[in-house]
Amino acid sequence: MTLSDLTLDRDGLIAALECTDPAFEEALRQEAYRVKVAHVGKNVYLRGLIEISNRCRKDCLYCGIRRGNAACPRYELSDEEVLAAATYAARQRFGSVVIQGGERSDTAFIQKITRLVKALKQIGTENGLPLGITLSLGEQSRDVYAEWFDAGAHRYLLRIESSNPDLYRKIHPQDGLHSYERRLEALYDLKAIGYQAGTGVMIGMPFQTAADLADDLLFFRRFGGPMIGMGPYHPNAETPLTRSGASYPSDEARFSLGLKMIALLRLLMPDINIAAATSLEVFSPRGRVLGLLSGANVIMPNVTPEAQLVKYNLYDRKTLLRDRQLNDVLHSDQIRIGFGQWGDAVL
Ligand code: SAM
Ligand code: SF4
Repeated sequence: MTLSDLTLDRDGLIAALECTDPAFEEALRQEAYRVKVAHVGKNVYLRGLIEISNRCRKDCLYCGIRRGNAACPRYELSDEEVLAAATYAARQRFGSVVIQGGERSDTAFIQKITRLVKALKQIGTENGLPLGITLSLGEQSRDVYAEWFDAGAHRYLLRIESSNPDLYRKIHPQDGLHSYERRLEALYDLKAIGYQAGTGVMIGMPFQTAADLADDLLFFRRFGGPMIGMGPYHPNAETPLTRSGASYPSDEARFSLGLKMIALLRLLMPDINIAAATSLEVFSPRGRVLGLLSGANVIMPNVTPEAQLVKYNLYDRKTLLRDRQLNDVLHSDQIRIGFGQWGDAVL
């Protein structure tokens, strides 16, 4: 297949995802980079990632911090630790922070997030640059989402994980708490409240087909969100999905699929924010840079205190891009770092 054969309908997307010709893949990535620069420029926007806690009430079959993983030492950052990490991000002139963590529904946690969002607003202002605030704390009631929005959060990341309900059911326990329909409802709640709602999927999972991934891309376009964060799946040895022995594509195939998904999404939705996910970095120290050169325009350098970072072990071999490496790693004529900018998508 060549680039001129590519059509952006379901069949064309499947053909592109199935084509492993390196010349096609390279041409696709270059075209996606060209479209990115034409529509959103060379800037990469930075979101300082603060992993607030690995306590979670859910038991997703693929995730290393799932409730059922007794081998996972648990932690929760104090308010002071979160604010110190955010101050650091603000002083480094990252335009935004992301508070991410396991899903919790207890009142103390909900109130803590409300309190922190208000304090984060203050920190940004004190450091001369109001911080954009993104939350990624799973499914919550509409009232909780509204409370956090009113406190000052304006973006929310909630991956659909797979837009295929059957695949979703295969990778989650069937216990009433892990429902595809509920997740979808939560995504639409976020949009209705006024958040910039972002979603995404894992790429290269057991049971997943090229048709599933093509449908994911079309789902993103239907949902119409201004940001997408999707990344390759990696096994964690302590999870039921890994233990089941279900097969999944090789490292090489997942890396190439991850980059191809970014590139195809950029062609489908030229104006949105697309994150180069941390999970790309597992394959290569240049994983995220290659994501940026394939059409992505957002990265999330981790600013979580290092002592806790190692416990946020979603998958094995987690690597990190610390901010101090940013200039070195991202130095390229093809990338410009958007220091001090929120970098919301303009749609
Ligand atoms: N608990 C919240 C949620 O699930 O939306 C936010 C935190 S959760 C750890 C963030 C994302 O990590 C999930 O949406 C999932 O896509 C990703 N993730 C979890 N386990 C993974 C794995 N084994 N490989 C790749 N990504 C994984
Ligand atoms: Fe919890 Fe999110 Fe991991 Fe699922 S993916 S177990 S909700 S942290």
